[in-house]
Amino acid sequence: MSPARLIDGKLAAAEFRARVRRGVDELVARGQAAPGLAVVLVGDDAASQVYVRNKDKAAHEAGFRVRTIRLPATTTQRDLLAGVAELNRDESVHGILVQLPLPRGLDESAVVAALDPGKDVDGLCARSVGALWSGGAGLVPCTPLGCMHLLERAGVALEGARAVVIGRSQLVGKPLAALLLARNATVTIAHSRTRDLPAVCREADVLIAAVGRPELVRGAWIRPGAAVIDVGINRLPDGRLAGDVAYAEALEVAGWLTPVPGGVGPMTIAMLLGNTLLAAARRALVPERELAPWRSETA
Ligand code: NAP
Repeated sequence: MSPARLIDGKLAAAEFRARVRRGVDELVARGQAAPGLAVVLVGDDAASQVYVRNKDKAAHEAGFRVRTIRLPATTTQRDLLAGVAELNRDESVHGILVQLPLPRGLDESAVVAALDPGKDVDGLCARSVGALWSGGAGLVPCTPLGCMHLLERAGVALEGARAVVIGRSQLVGKPLAALLLARNATVTIAHSRTRDLPAVCREADVLIAAVGRPELVRGAWIRPGAAVIDVGINRLPDGRLAGDVAYAEALEVAGWLTPVPGGVGPMTIAMLLGNTLLAAARRALVPERELAPWRSETA
């Protein structure tokens, strides 16, 4: 069998970001303010600092107005909720992203619940989740949206396909399952209690790994010709990054494959920009298909 076609997330993300930039220019040309994104970082987690810096940079490049709010790890729940309430009221802010995880002692679910659903660009609050499962017009979590965009762009057929998602987190696994279902795939969600995971995976025309275990998915688990999307980002003891899929083995069997790094990772920030533009377009009552035409392609 010929090796899998690689799905280039870096290229897809760069193209998508250029589309967002054009949408921003169009919004401004219509006399509206550029999208405003507020990023809230509490504490000094090293990985979160990097993520926030990258989001800040990408949002600036897309022509957004960005406010990065850095709060000390000692911030109280009450002060954080007051800060969120202020951003909810601020007309110049269209998207609010609270970088997770929060330091110990802060209640993430209460903070997520406090977000204005129209500004919840991570798509995590209950209204966003409800909209996703009921086909409503909410905001959809960025990483799952990025996976769908990559599948779409690669031309992978989803209608009637058997899709297996490994992982059931609120952030990745569950929303991905909802998006695949909305595309008429037949979806199985697997997790740590799934019996005979290799056999379940071998059923999949589309296999998505969002687990956080380096190279858990072996080549022998993959149905020949399947589309394999590797969401995992795992730091190995030697410092290298590995996905949840054994890359070299998968390359021999899969029909399509995302690399790590350079696959799903770059799409997450691109989708965050897309969601913020969408939120700003809705706020300005500009028909979203005119500024964010990709929405109908993925969700
Ligand atoms: P998470 O909240 O830890 O969820 C992991 C899921 O994997 C859980 O549902 C868990 O099952 C399941 N699982 C764990 N071990 C398993 C096993 N041996 N067999 C089958 N299922 C197993 O993780 P997450 O936030 O969804 O993230 C998953 C991965 O994606 C991580 O590597 C993360 O770094 C990466 N990620 C990447 C991006 C990106 O931008 N590319 C964004 C977000 C996350 P249970 O529910 O039964 O415990």
